[in-house]
Parts: sequence; structure tokens; C-alpha cells
Amino acid sequence: MRLNVKDHQRVDEILASFRYTSYKWIDPQQIIVAQWVRMKCMFGCGEYGHGGACPPNTPSVAECERFFKEYTDAVILHFAGRMNKPEDRHAWSAKINAKLVKLERAVFLAGFERAFLLFMDSCCFCKECTGKRETCDQPRMARPSPEAMAVDVYATVRRFGFQINVRTDYDQKMDRFAFLMVS
Ligand code: SF4
Repeated sequence: MRLNVKDHQRVDEILASFRYTSYKWIDPQQIIVAQWVRMKCMFGCGEYGHGGACPPNTPSVAECERFFKEYTDAVILHFAGRMNKPEDRHAWSAKINAKLVKLERAVFLAGFERAFLLFMDSCCFCKECTGKRETCDQPRMARPSPEAMAVDVYATVRRFGFQINVRTDYDQKMDRFAFLMVS
């Protein structure tokens, strides 16, 4: 059953307490899951097999699709960043992702037991990721990104009016998106 206005207000208050302002409520049934996203993980991404919260440590594309179908209410949060050096991205993402785990917990404790957060980048908590769920250094903290869950982030966020473009250089503004599955 979809959340009511009061529920949304409660989550909005939590988001405000974390000082998140750039976000939108969405209908999770509009999230686009695609096989090509997984192919991009498997071929072309250096983190495949090296990220404890990245494929192949995430569910199959069909299971990802099923996961999103189980939700009626979600929030997309937007984060913009500009890196001086490519190496800076790791620390930037780790800091934001650590705060997002706290947000997920706060929403869960407010009574939304299905709350689940998808990071705005790969996990990034450790300098050297162990590459496996079984040996993950912070298994209670690590979460997959939307891309690792086979979400076509470009098409999905555009659907909800966010701007996103392919970057051609590292010093360009980067738009990243986290998904908070609420109920
Ligand atoms: S917490 Fe560390 S080991 Fe676990 S997925 Fe994240 S970076 Fe990898």
C-alpha cells in the first residue's frame, strides 16, 4: 500500500534533519532496470569482481527487477561534485555514503521497516576493498549503488526531471544519485 501524506512528511522531516534538500519522491515502478547496465559492469568497469557491493556480489538482473517491484515509495537524492583529481572521488563518495547509511537507519527506526539505501557511487569505505561479501570489512554498512542493481540511472533520473549528462573529463561537474527505497 502506498504511503500517505503523513508518512511522506515524516520522511521529509528526517531528510531535512540530515540537511538533504535536493531530492524527489518517486514511484519505484518507474525505475528502469536493464540488462545493458549489468553488461557495462561486467565489461568495461574495473570494479567488477573487486567491489564487495558490486556485481557479481549483487542479485541477478531479474532479482533486481523483482526487488524494485516490491516498493511503492522511494526517494532519489541528487549529489553534485567536481573533483580536482580523479583520486579525490573515493573520499568524497565514502563521506556521502557513510551519511546515507545513517539516513537509512533513521528512516527504518521511524517505522519504515523496508527502508533500503542504494549508494550514490560504489561503496568506497575501504582503501582496498576485499571484493567479496563474505570478507567485507564493514558488512553492516556496505550497500550497492543503483547501477550495481542494474538501474539505468540516466533514463530513470531524467524521467523525474533531474539533469544528468555523460562527462567527457574528470574536472567536469559530476551528478550522482542515491536511491532511498522507503516502502
Ligand atoms: S565496506 Fe570495504 S570491503 Fe566492504 S564492500 Fe565496502 S569497500 Fe568493500
